[in-house]
Amino acid sequence: MKKKLIAGNWKMNGGLAANEALVKGLLAGLGTPACDVAVAVPSPYLAQVQGLLSGASIALGAQDVSAFASGAYTGEVSAAMLKDFGVRYALVGHSERRQYHGETDAVVAEKARQALASGITPIVCVGETLQEREAGQTESVVKRQLAAVIHVNGHCISEIVVAYEPVWAIGTGRTASPEQAQQVHAVLRAQLMAATPHADRVRLLYGGSMNAANAAELLAQPDIDGGLVGGASLKAEDFLKIIAAA
Ligand code: PGA
Repeated sequence: MKKKLIAGNWKMNGGLAANEALVKGLLAGLGTPACDVAVAVPSPYLAQVQGLLSGASIALGAQDVSAFASGAYTGEVSAAMLKDFGVRYALVGHSERRQYHGETDAVVAEKARQALASGITPIVCVGETLQEREAGQTESVVKRQLAAVIHVNGHCISEIVVAYEPVWAIGTGRTASPEQAQQVHAVLRAQLMAATPHADRVRLLYGGSMNAANAAELLAQPDIDGGLVGGASLKAEDFLKIIAAA
């Protein structure tokens, strides 16, 4: 059976002192987790957090990766650079990147490809907006977003992680119900099954206001293999409770 994965997404939060306190708090309470654990940190702190996590059973993650391999792309951070700092996972296509930075499905697919080429596991984020849900487009939106990645990566598809994050649930305190989440996860699983015989290996995370109180119920759904946790990953106590629920 595949292990669940609980990944924290710090977003643009933290600083040297806060990061150290948070990671030390996590390590103090972590014990031997039953699931895989990762934290996706802002790029300037990769080296710091890599040092803090040395020898620990928490993997280092990045929140984005360039769609380009190297060269004249000012401000970009390549997959190879992330790899230099021991990065194991990189979020790609988070809805905040799609929304504020105009990332298209094609760009997201290229980012996933770059990550895989450097031995980094992309956590590909998909999810519908409230408007799309209300228009009955949830399935078609997430299928289109996932299809872009399946198509480009072909044989590598079983090496990715997919995170279903309904945009209306992110940072709003309005979580998808376990049934709503499971329904979409089942759609994504079926799509993966049609693409690869190894679909069962692909971990499907849920994200969007996951917290210590709702994690267990969400994680008990048959096609929910973990969580991508924003706000609740910024407090060691809360994040540890979610890890324990997995
Ligand atoms: P949230 O964020 O847990 O604060 O809703 C999740 C995410 O955006 O990854």
